Amino acid sequence: MKIFVVNAGSSSLKYQLIDMENEQVLAKGLCDRIGIEGSLISHKAADGREYRTETPMPTHSEAFEAVVYALINSDAKVIDSFDEISAIGHRIVQGGAIFKGSCLIDEKVLEQISDLGVMAPLHNPAHVLAIRACIKTFGSEIPQVAVFDTSFHQTMPAKAYMYPLPYEYYEKYQVRKYGAHGTSHRFVSDRVAVLEGKEKSDIKIITCHLGNGCSITAIKDGVCLDTSMGFTPLDGFMMGTRSGTIDPSAITYIAEKENLTPAEMNTICNKKSGMLGISGVSNDNRDVGAAAEAGNERAKLAVDMQRYEILKFIGSYITAMNGVDAIVFTGGIGENDPELREYICENLSFLGVKMDSVANKNRGKEIKITTADSGVNIYVVPTNEELAIARDTLALVK
Ligand code: ADP
Repeated sequence: MKIFVVNAGSSSLKYQLIDMENEQVLAKGLCDRIGIEGSLISHKAADGREYRTETPMPTHSEAFEAVVYALINSDAKVIDSFDEISAIGHRIVQGGAIFKGSCLIDEKVLEQISDLGVMAPLHNPAHVLAIRACIKTFGSEIPQVAVFDTSFHQTMPAKAYMYPLPYEYYEKYQVRKYGAHGTSHRFVSDRVAVLEGKEKSDIKIITCHLGNGCSITAIKDGVCLDTSMGFTPLDGFMMGTRSGTIDPSAITYIAEKENLTPAEMNTICNKKSGMLGISGVSNDNRDVGAAAEAGNERAKLAVDMQRYEILKFIGSYITAMNGVDAIVFTGGIGENDPELREYICENLSFLGVKMDSVANKNRGKEIKITTADSGVNIYVVPTNEELAIARDTLALVK
């Protein structure tokens, strides 16, 4: 059974075709610059064959047509017809309080995803456009499944997801914490339970998804207890370009001083803050790390601030769960930054954490980075959101 996985944004569309017999990726690719000049598709088959071409993609429909051509007719084709595709799984950013799990897509689901666009204006409307275009291209006979970034966090208790604002804003506008990266937190925590040889319901896990966007989740009794991202992915701690949590008064004060609208201030917090804002160098962890090494004080401060905030979140979740059995790092930074992991391990020595410094040198590889006598087991598990989406899709269509 082959599952096609789609991660669509307003101007881009990433995809993978996965053979679920062995969970191997048959092909993956990206359509970029949809709706703007210079649209292109880059497609790669598992055996290394590639297909890249510039072709007009005024809408997602043309993008899907280009994908179909790449999959079926190009020099890097991997199937003979799309009859071989059993189902399509879509990554959806915001599922609000409505979607507590993945589901088959019908007209009502599409309307609900669209309505939730008020909370994810950059993502949900694009998902709806892409799903409609996908149905048009692949036909309505192929089942389509929605997998939400937020649904894993729907188990949070009200004491974790409510904001201490006047209650009417929750009632009127559903302003509360929803979290993000749920598919990744679920994937890596499932894997950690396997590595620990225990049922997920029997272990307390902290998952650290550290990429351009970062979030940390506390998982107790097999479900999400709390997570660092909030109403939007701006919440939590310092990221590539996002500020994470700061005193809201600092925001209103700067906005007043600089005569900025709420939308302008929102852009500053989302796009110009975080590692980029502090370092002035880059949002990319590698660039900031290199600048810090070279003696750039602001880059060093950015690195120190982010690590300290990660440590504080881990600490608070250990307390919230009254302990922790396993901590896992994932995402581009979590999988590839041994120094960051070393800093966290050193500062958890009060729990008896003992780092295996040889194992910790590994990058991008599933590995336990603590010694056999460590008080808490710490792992690196490369995330695979596409595989998680494909598994959910398969489970629903079966
Ligand atoms: P996204 O949130 O966009 O999916 P990723 O999970 O790909 O992001 O993570 C991107 C981040 O990972 C960047 O900050 C990048 O610098 C960092 N990263 C990737 N490889 C390395 C590496 N070898 N060493 C340190 N950081 C890395």
